[in-house]
Order: sequence, then structure tokens, then C-alpha cells
Amino acid sequence: MTSAALIALLLALPQPAGQKPAEKEPPIVTPAPQQAEPTPAPSDAIILFDGSNLDHWQHADGKAAQWTPDGKKGGAMTCKPGSGSILTKRNFGDVQIHVEFATPPAEGNGQERGNSGVYIQNRYEVQILDSYDNKTYTNGQCGAVYLQHVPLANVCRKPGEWQTYDIVFHAPKADAAGKVTTPGRLTVFHNGVLIQDNVEIKEPTGGGQKGVGDGPIHLQDHGNLVRYRNIWVRPL
Ligand code: MG
Repeated sequence: MTSAALIALLLALPQPAGQKPAEKEPPIVTPAPQQAEPTPAPSDAIILFDGSNLDHWQHADGKAAQWTPDGKKGGAMTCKPGSGSILTKRNFGDVQIHVEFATPPAEGNGQERGNSGVYIQNRYEVQILDSYDNKTYTNGQCGAVYLQHVPLANVCRKPGEWQTYDIVFHAPKADAAGKVTTPGRLTVFHNGVLIQDNVEIKEPTGGGQKGVGDGPIHLQDHGNLVRYRNIWVRPL
């Protein structure tokens, strides 16, 4: 079989459950250049990470966070692969979240390149991936609500450059039996560009905690050396 015929055959095969095909990609939008320094937080923000330490974070088992902070204000931290995801000690309901991140030098393909993620309430993952010149299923690329919503645009900067997520989250509401009566809603700006426009959250994304109710912000250890800096929130 020729390679062209093989590719045609592969594209014709059904995608794994829930994955939307890579060939229907959202448009690429070039954002403004990265900010060398973190954007200062507003006066009423709760600072969850400023580079100094991981005092606001822990692993799922309650152990002290093992990721590696620079140890100075204005600095970053790096995921420590194998140590596990880190979660805020504090729980949040409706919340505005600001996160800055940088993916490592391009290595691996698809989901194996610069993968991490911001799980809101430990349930709903806004995917972090190096989607700069890196194809994957569209509802798994950077800025996707994982396997639920394709981002409106691909606004990725190059590996190593600082990027921002500004997220507005309205938590789902449930009745006394725990049945969702009003679905959650999510809006996301990636490097200042709207990529999720008040989308409805259907259920926890893969690996997310079940149920509803306040929960921590969770940064995913997916085995890649993704860096984070300047994380703050404003409960709504
Ligand atoms: Mg991820």
C-alpha cells in the first residue's frame, strides 16, 4: 500500500470514542508577543502561586507538593513528572482564574507534547498542550475542555514562551439528590483571545472527580516539564 493510501485509510477509520478528528482544526490565531514578566494581579485576587513557594498546594493524598518552584517572587515552578498532580488546599465554587504556563521544548507528538491541564474543582480539565505545529484530536488540543469542547481558535505560542489562561467558571447547581439542575459554564481566554465562549459543561472530564460542589484547582502531571507562574483567582 502506498503511504498516501495508508493515510487515506487511517483518516477513514472511526476516531476513538469521544475524540473529534484532527483534520477539522480551529483557525490558528497569532497572539500578541509574550510578556517577559508576569502580569500583576488585581488588588482583590487570592495569590495561589507567585514563584516563592508551594504553600497553597498539595498532592491528592495531602502530602506537600513536590513540584519545583524557582523559590523567588516573580518566578515559576516546573511539573515534577511522576510526583503526581498538585491541587490547591482551598476549594472554590464560581471563580475567575488566571494561570500562566510555558510548554517545554518540542518532544513527542500529539498528546505526549507539553501536556498538562487546569482542572477546575478537580473535575473539568481545560487542556494544556503544546499545540504549536502539533496535531491531535481537536477536542484534546490546547484550550479544549477535554473531549467536550473544541477551542474556537489555536492561539498557542511557541514552546518555552509564556502563555496565559483567563478562565471564568460558573459551577453547576444540583438538587438535594446530587442531580445537576443547572449545568456549569466556562469561558476561557488564551493569550487574550476568546477560545471558550460560555460553554456548557456536561460532566467531569476524564480523570476528574465525580459529583458537584466546591473543589480545588488541580494542575495535571502528565509526565511533561510544563512550567507555571503567576496563578491567582477571584472567587465570584
Ligand atoms: Mg492534559
